[in-house]
Amino acid sequence: MAVSAGADAASAVSYEPVIGLEIHVQLATRTKMFCGCEMSFGDPPNTHTCPVCLALPGALPVVNELAVHLALMIGLALGCELAPRSIFHRKHYFYPDLPKGYQISQYDEPLCRGGSLGGVRLHRVHMEEDAAKLIHMGASGRIHGSEISVVDFNRGGSPLVEIVTEPDVHSAEQAGEWLRLLRVTLRQLGVSDVNMDEGSLRCDANVSLRPAGTTALGVKTELKNLNSFRFIEAGIRAEIARQEGVLDAGATVSQETLHFDPSSGQITSLRSKEEAHDYRYFPEPDLPPVAITEQMIARARAAMGELPLDREQRLQQAFGLTAERARALAFRRELGDYFEQAVAAGGDHGATPTELLQTLANLIAVELPPRIGSDTDPFDCSVTPAAMLALARMLATKQINMGGARTVIERLAEHGGEVEAIVAQEDLGALGDGDELATVVAAALAAHPDAAERLRTGNQKAIGPIVGFVMRETKGRADGSEVTRLVHQQLGL
Ligand SMILES: [Zn+2]
Repeated sequence: MAVSAGADAASAVSYEPVIGLEIHVQLATRTKMFCGCEMSFGDPPNTHTCPVCLALPGALPVVNELAVHLALMIGLALGCELAPRSIFHRKHYFYPDLPKGYQISQYDEPLCRGGSLGGVRLHRVHMEEDAAKLIHMGASGRIHGSEISVVDFNRGGSPLVEIVTEPDVHSAEQAGEWLRLLRVTLRQLGVSDVNMDEGSLRCDANVSLRPAGTTALGVKTELKNLNSFRFIEAGIRAEIARQEGVLDAGATVSQETLHFDPSSGQITSLRSKEEAHDYRYFPEPDLPPVAITEQMIARARAAMGELPLDREQRLQQAFGLTAERARALAFRRELGDYFEQAVAAGGDHGATPTELLQTLANLIAVELPPRIGSDTDPFDCSVTPAAMLALARMLATKQINMGGARTVIERLAEHGGEVEAIVAQEDLGALGDGDELATVVAAALAAHPDAAERLRTGNQKAIGPIVGFVMRETKGRADGSEVTRLVHQQLGL
């Protein structure tokens, strides 16, 4: 995407944003990365600690086997090359949330390299431990008038995987869309709860601009800890605009780490960006290399299940669904499962017309969720997959219209039941091409002679009040296209 850098023709340069993403994913293990402390969120501070994660002298780390297994699943799902042997490094920096004075991470021999997801190439995927949580007390905690911060070591040592993309993203919207894809993929794998509010998925974005049409990379800045999709997109947009301003003024962008404040939209500098040599990386002497065996890879592969992008393709090919519907179903596993059960309720899907499958997919992906609670698992409500298939059949054969179908879903969500019985009970059946509908149409034309005349002389929009009259008279049971046909027929069009 090219961004115009201003209206002034003399200085109008178009820039292309170049964005790389770094995502930290907290793995869904029972214990921490290098010790037996239980993983916790929301427990009282400093209740899940031990000599290892508090860095007491003489304590030795041990690699969490499940964390390696989950990291391998991520590497396989993203099509990475898995290193048969990878090693941990110490990454040094001094900060109160890091009791050892270094973080155990991976450096030049990471677990996974390369790979791609949804058209964005990956640079690497590596394992590391999380830092503890610093809590700034603000006005509520002061010593001798100075603000203080406290440390909760419960999070310290949690297992993380860092996923680093190549700079293949070129807009804020693309970044948001890609991160959503990554999130559903990780959720489907079951490797993390990917809860952004609780910090299980955190994103940094490296942003630079270059004149459109050139290939050299500009100076990049790093936006830290963007913790919602909305903030990620807003932050990147704001940083692109800031860099445009800097470049248009003839200045240069300086390499630094930035903080985006979503409430004010302001970007502030945290620090000038460290170079790798500032961290004094060296191999962790207390941990052996991680040696991956064929058995470990086979076990990870067997645990994976079908990935969302693969399912999207299969739903399109096997059922003839549009890309949009297939994605809506594939990206929420329970909706996809529910759809496939509904199809199975009708027997061999090869004999089911594509139009009916489309209607069914539409009902399940679009109409059902808002009527049962958008985050509710459809298997936990009283609407059965078979009932949705029955309803789709009535829609496809025009025995009911969409308005009636929505009412049926509401009734099913309230108390379950049989679709046909609800339609009969509430008189929701569509008025078809019988005499009854023709009579109502005639009455509508008589009630709106002006509109009828305009329609006769070619003004298509004039049909609005006539259709409105019919829908009111029939309590919404008429089929819209049938009404249009009858109107045209009666006007001799
Ligand atoms: Zn511990």
